[in-house]
Amino acid sequence: MPAEQSNLCDEIQPWLAAYALGDAEEGAAARAHLAECPRCQHDLQEYRLVAGMLPYSAPEALPRPELRYQLIEAVRAAKKSILIQSPYLVLPEGGVELFAQLVTQGVRIRISTNSLASTDNIPAFAGYSSQRSDLLDAGVEVYEFNPNPAMRDQLAGKYPGLAKHDPVFGLHAKSMVIDDETLFIGTFNLDPRSTNLNTEVGVLIDNRELARQLTESIERDIQPENSWHTTVDFNPDSHVDFGKRFKVWMFRLLPVEPVL
Ligand SMILES: [Zn+2]
Repeated sequence: MPAEQSNLCDEIQPWLAAYALGDAEEGAAARAHLAECPRCQHDLQEYRLVAGMLPYSAPEALPRPELRYQLIEAVRAAKKSILIQSPYLVLPEGGVELFAQLVTQGVRIRISTNSLASTDNIPAFAGYSSQRSDLLDAGVEVYEFNPNPAMRDQLAGKYPGLAKHDPVFGLHAKSMVIDDETLFIGTFNLDPRSTNLNTEVGVLIDNRELARQLTESIERDIQPENSWHTTVDFNPDSHVDFGKRFKVWMFRLLPVEPVL
């Protein structure tokens, strides 16, 4: 493959992710390339399966109201388990109480999110960290991503565009599996420098096979070699310098928008 074409493959990765969710409006050149590039066709297949794994998300972009409602209803109806992966997790008002109630009803809730060391968004982390002990007290299991995980090299080799855009490796997935059969995948703000892709898209799907694959992917991320298991007695905040921790402390004095 000529080097030029290989660069194009990398460049259209964010577009492919948007396209996989039916959210790519522009991109005649990208479409033309996709039509004749087996590698990008293959990547598109993967994006369609785990569309929530790669994109950036932003705390200021809230889900559309109806999607948000469906999501909350699906969570409320959980019977066995909820597995969440989100780069910036700040629950909306009442969220911690809802989780506490679900745990009491026997629902196992696991959350995979960025640690202070892996996050690129300190205000959002501050919002999350002010809820963290309540979540842990409620019996929610929390796993925080290690910025230098074992699988980093593996992923970076597979998605070269990712390493290029994201020198600090962190989670950008926004996904959830409920009762091993319902999954939510969502993505928005695919490139922080792009304004025209700043649209949230997300889908709720009932599909055991897709739910199994997404579960597998998140469970790999929360293995001890990829994440810290945060508990009532332990969190990995001390893995960053004082300056970053101080910023978190400052931001905790300010209100933060919920971004579940
Ligand atoms: Zn290509």
